[in-house]
Amino acid sequence: MHETRFVIPPAQPAILAIDGTQLVFPVRRIWCVGRNYLEHVREMGQDERAPPFFFAKPADAIVAHDSVVAYPPQTADFQHEVELVVALKLGGRDIPVAAAARCIFGYAVGIDLTRRDLQLEARNLGRPWEAGKSFDDSAACGPLTRAETAGAMARGAITLRVNGRLRQSGDLGQMIWSVSEIISKLSELVSLAPGDVIMTGTPAGIGPLSPGDTVTCDIAGLNQLRITIAPAA
Ligand code: MN
Repeated sequence: MHETRFVIPPAQPAILAIDGTQLVFPVRRIWCVGRNYLEHVREMGQDERAPPFFFAKPADAIVAHDSVVAYPPQTADFQHEVELVVALKLGGRDIPVAAAARCIFGYAVGIDLTRRDLQLEARNLGRPWEAGKSFDDSAACGPLTRAETAGAMARGAITLRVNGRLRQSGDLGQMIWSVSEIISKLSELVSLAPGDVIMTGTPAGIGPLSPGDTVTCDIAGLNQLRITIAPAA
């Protein structure tokens, strides 16, 4: 039923494409996992025994495959983090690890785009991370592959190239928390719901992006994600 009481037009939901169909996946929230690969924990100089943790991006930060992304304002260190993205078709609270796979609609390749200088400043000052992590166009995400087609995604190569040069290379099997463990742990913090999307953390090799760069990301069994950083004006 059309809601007539809105005083301004409500925002349209952010969407993800789905491989092999014109249907689309509506995004409710974007959750992200920090420090889920040991080699990345080491390159960030963090405590190797500290467990991964969660932060969030707004749903409208989604950027589709083949997009041109503007170099964001207020940063001199715009960085890439390639990540496996999981999209949920079911939610709930306190989801057992063994029941988590049933909640998954599909998987995609994503980039947790980061204003690293602002993130580190916030971290060092004990401030929230939004300025570094949750800005416009900060969640690049390729088309979803349905879980039935993709399989368990427990292992497989994950790579990111900038202008064809390999920058990040890892394997999904290196994740500290598995996809099912992530869903279970996040559901202890919040009630998960259909449409929630989770970026599951980045392997080692994070680094800066420059205007004009083309970024290509691959995970075995999923569609490639490619974005271009807008050339300098
Ligand atoms: Mn990340």
